[in-house]
Amino acid sequence: MSTDSKYDAIVVGGGHNGLVAATYLAKAGKSVVLLESASELGGATTSVRPFPEYDARLSRYSYLVSLLPDQIVADLGINFKTLERSIASYTPYKKSGKDGGLLISQNWDARTAESFRELTGGDEEGKKWQEFYNEIAVLAERIAPYMLQPLKSAAKFMMERPIGEVIQDRFQDDLVRGVVLTDALIGTFSSAQDLQANRCFLYHLIGNGTGQWRVPQGGMGAFVTELNRVAVLNGVEINLNSHVTDIDSSSNGVAVTTATGDKYVATDLLFAGAPQTLAKLRDKIAPASLDGSQMKINMLLSKLPRLKSGVDPKLAFAGTFHVNETYSQLEKAYQVAKLGDIPSDLPLEMYCHTLTDPTILSPELSQRGFHTLTLFGLHTPAALFDADPSGAKEAAKAAAISSLNQYLEEPIESVLAVCRDGSLAIEAKSPIDLDNDLGLPRGNIFHRDLDFPFIDGTESAPIKWGSETDDAHIYLAGAGARRGGGVSGIAGHNAAMAVLAKD
Ligand SMILES: Cc1cc2nc3c(=O)[nH]c(=O)nc-3n(C[C@H](O)[C@H](O)[C@H](O)COP(=O)(O)OP(=O)(O)OC[C@H]3O[C@@H](n4cnc5c(N)ncnc54)[C@H](O)[C@@H]3O)c2cc1C
Repeated sequence: MSTDSKYDAIVVGGGHNGLVAATYLAKAGKSVVLLESASELGGATTSVRPFPEYDARLSRYSYLVSLLPDQIVADLGINFKTLERSIASYTPYKKSGKDGGLLISQNWDARTAESFRELTGGDEEGKKWQEFYNEIAVLAERIAPYMLQPLKSAAKFMMERPIGEVIQDRFQDDLVRGVVLTDALIGTFSSAQDLQANRCFLYHLIGNGTGQWRVPQGGMGAFVTELNRVAVLNGVEINLNSHVTDIDSSSNGVAVTTATGDKYVATDLLFAGAPQTLAKLRDKIAPASLDGSQMKINMLLSKLPRLKSGVDPKLAFAGTFHVNETYSQLEKAYQVAKLGDIPSDLPLEMYCHTLTDPTILSPELSQRGFHTLTLFGLHTPAALFDADPSGAKEAAKAAAISSLNQYLEEPIESVLAVCRDGSLAIEAKSPIDLDNDLGLPRGNIFHRDLDFPFIDGTESAPIKWGSETDDAHIYLAGAGARRGGGVSGIAGHNAAMAVLAKD
């Protein structure tokens, strides 16, 4: 640690974007110090063992990867793989008193066609589904390569109609509409009729030009371990327990101070925490943003539960398992939450990591048939938790469990692993927890509202990479930069490129 020497760059924040930014700069020959508040790296991309008596390392926060460009993996030389899920999604439903489910394979096949037929009574909706996603694939292929280049103008990729309108035009079935819509609402407290949902939708469908959500082999923690390795290998100095409390800037560069009184000076500062935090540290007005709006629930199961529909749980939980996510249920839940209540029919989606990648479990747990289950609940904005954080969290958790149990033959509680103290192996994180644990402002998983990944004329100053600030020595390198958001490393890459472009 140095208080005297001047670095080329200080990176604040040791989430995955900070690590990516620091490594790109170090590889280019810059001297870099990375300062992280916490005692561990990773931010929202960590794996933990939440139930210590069980050797199961769960991706505590983020859990699937789509947006990470292959180019970043190759440029940095990290040994990190993502695995394809054979099933895209399963959505259980009750129809004429009978339990069924819409099962969609990753690639369109006869089983998927049959499942659409069973739900809708014909082939039309399935055909529309294929047409819609073929069009999206063309858009994704066009946009993806630009994510690591200077920003392009909006004219090339216009998306002006609310996604809700588009979905209502294209599809007839409420459940099919809902399955499409969910990608627009992950972590985003928005109606289908608001353009904010379009932004979220776009990010969920353009990753690597395919929009496929893949399973991080070894869990999210494996990604961070590798990023840490290459950062150190390339000479990045990493200082943990270094909470930055003050930032000064002059025409010569920047100086930061940590809570422990250490001082660092550098030519440039790349801030990979939230833009709201940066604004506070610089005594500026923080950018406005929506509250985060999700519950994350992590579970360890002693076995997969049977479903009322009779489908094999190994199929149902291998992809994204949707509950209460018809189009009308999603809109209703949004209205209920907006009025200040936790939706009782909580929209949620789940997936089982261990069906695709058992390596996060010890061989013994795997052999015994244990599995992990990740639940992501929608439309639970931070404001619902302000008055009584723990009471509201319990209420949201109970709503999630009873929503899920409608479709299970064996209630989820009956298959949860039991901890030594008799408690069940389940942990819940509300938006308030995310703010407290990770510094995500109001629990916003993207740090702040997503922007379209292009210049759209609303910018207050010229931007090239989307990481620029009003100070020529300070850059945004985290999820809150334009084109940040999600596990992508794009914000880190682009901030590093903006700095290197000055040479
Ligand atoms: C519950 C949940 C589920 C999610 N699921 C997915 C998913 O499946 N797939 C996906 O793509 N995305 C997902 N996301 C979003 C994604 O995880 C984040 O957008 C992304 O990880 C942000 O990365 P980052 O490096 O920009 O910031 P962060 O991971 O937030 O890291 C910022 C780091 O900066 C540090 N820091 C902040 N302020 C200071 C300071 N003053 N001094 C020093 N250090 C500081 C913090 O401690 C933190 O370690 C999810 C997020 C959450 C919370």
